[in-house]
Amino acid sequence: METDRSFHISDVKKMMRCPKFFWNALREEAQPFQPFARLDEAVTELACRKLGIEEYFLGQKNDTSEVTQEKLDAGQWIVKGRFEYQHLRIKLPIVHKTEEGLDVFFVFVGNYPKDDDVLYYSSNIWVMKKLGYDIHDIKIIHLNGNYVREDELDVNELFIVSDTFYNDKGRVTKPIFEHVMSRMVDLSETLEYMQEVAVSEDVPSIRTKKCVRRTKCPYYDTCFPNEKQEDDDSILTLVSSQYKYDMAKEGLTKLKDADLERVEGTRQQFAQIMASRNGGLYVDRLPLKMWLDENIKFPVAFIDFEWDTYAVPPYKGLKPFSVVCFEYSIHILKEDGSLTHHDFIGTQDCREEFIENLIHDIGSAGSVVAFNADGAEKIRLKELADQFPNYRKGLDRICDAMVDLAMPFQLGMVYDVRMRGLYSLKVLLSVFSESLSYQDLSIHHGMDAVYSWRMMDKKQADNEEELKQRLSEYCGMDTYSMVVLYKWLISHAQED
Ligand code: SF4
Repeated sequence: METDRSFHISDVKKMMRCPKFFWNALREEAQPFQPFARLDEAVTELACRKLGIEEYFLGQKNDTSEVTQEKLDAGQWIVKGRFEYQHLRIKLPIVHKTEEGLDVFFVFVGNYPKDDDVLYYSSNIWVMKKLGYDIHDIKIIHLNGNYVREDELDVNELFIVSDTFYNDKGRVTKPIFEHVMSRMVDLSETLEYMQEVAVSEDVPSIRTKKCVRRTKCPYYDTCFPNEKQEDDDSILTLVSSQYKYDMAKEGLTKLKDADLERVEGTRQQFAQIMASRNGGLYVDRLPLKMWLDENIKFPVAFIDFEWDTYAVPPYKGLKPFSVVCFEYSIHILKEDGSLTHHDFIGTQDCREEFIENLIHDIGSAGSVVAFNADGAEKIRLKELADQFPNYRKGLDRICDAMVDLAMPFQLGMVYDVRMRGLYSLKVLLSVFSESLSYQDLSIHHGMDAVYSWRMMDKKQADNEEELKQRLSEYCGMDTYSMVVLYKWLISHAQED
């Protein structure tokens, strides 16, 4: 006889997104968790120091609900306590029983807990209420975005204990306790349905806004395999379009068929439609030539940085979620066509070394080209100048000379239907170069580079030289791709 499965709140969230999402996720092999932001510290234990809790029962992975409840009822502080109701297992970061009921402290590894996550908090509280506990108070311990680390980590300044949620701008919104209690739903039926879905042979894929809201669902191509086979100039590649699915349903299947009354009219959309009408490629030559003439001065330094993000600041001068740049690649193209390459890879607190080498390798003249410069390299340079003001002059010169190579594409001066509505450097390289490909490298993505570097930085790699070589090839490919792209733009801007 099949016994019921245990679920976690992450499963409930998946189910609430869509039953097919939950079903797909259950069948997927669990991947080792690689967080976007590095977290080397046991943050819940740091939060205990903030609350001044010295003695507590520390829960373990396979603890039964009964064991934890026994300790809780005996009046102990519980840290990472496991509880379970109707096969929903939860782990409460910090909880304490008082005469008026439970005080529950959630730990949020971020700067501003938002009410978007209320389902997570209310589901935890629902389990505790079902186990018979009254709730006296709910607070969230989160990181203090304004804290700047000195030599030592100051736990009191690092955290804020909040009884309110925040909005995107960091302003206080709703009281946590009242909002969580008012949004609590009975999960009994959902949990029963989850048991049914978990053992189903299949679950239908039903397209809703949730399939593409914010980011495209990771199961999209499995759920709707026919869409993947759409032509390069399918109307479904039209960017920022509210009506593309409606138009496709009406038989307007190509970009060139788009009903202009229902196209928002951005420059990118115009370039896409023109490319489709022109047989695949659109180049707006005159503005492109003007843009290149105005912005690119020799010698041209094509640069790319790699960095890691730290939830808890590891070094002096950093805030929660600050980054540390650990690698750069620079290709320098001179007017006579010669090309030279420089790179840097450091570990631990290599910020000053990074800056000194960077300023030296870029030199004091010419343009500095990056891809999506404003959202990446430029921000990093400004942060470094704030942390090390004695290098501000050299860093400001690089910032002032910086040009974003994504602009000709973002501004709709160039579009090739093979881009399929995507504008990343990797996509552009695959379209505009036949001989170069990231697939030939051992590292294919920015986050793979970060994970490889973390191994080196934590001295967990037994093949350090090999990893260094791979990192160098990956970052070098980014800057060499820009050289290739730049040459392609020049040659097409100058065509008659
Ligand atoms: S693509 Fe849509 S239907 Fe498929 S799992 Fe994602 S949200 Fe559900």
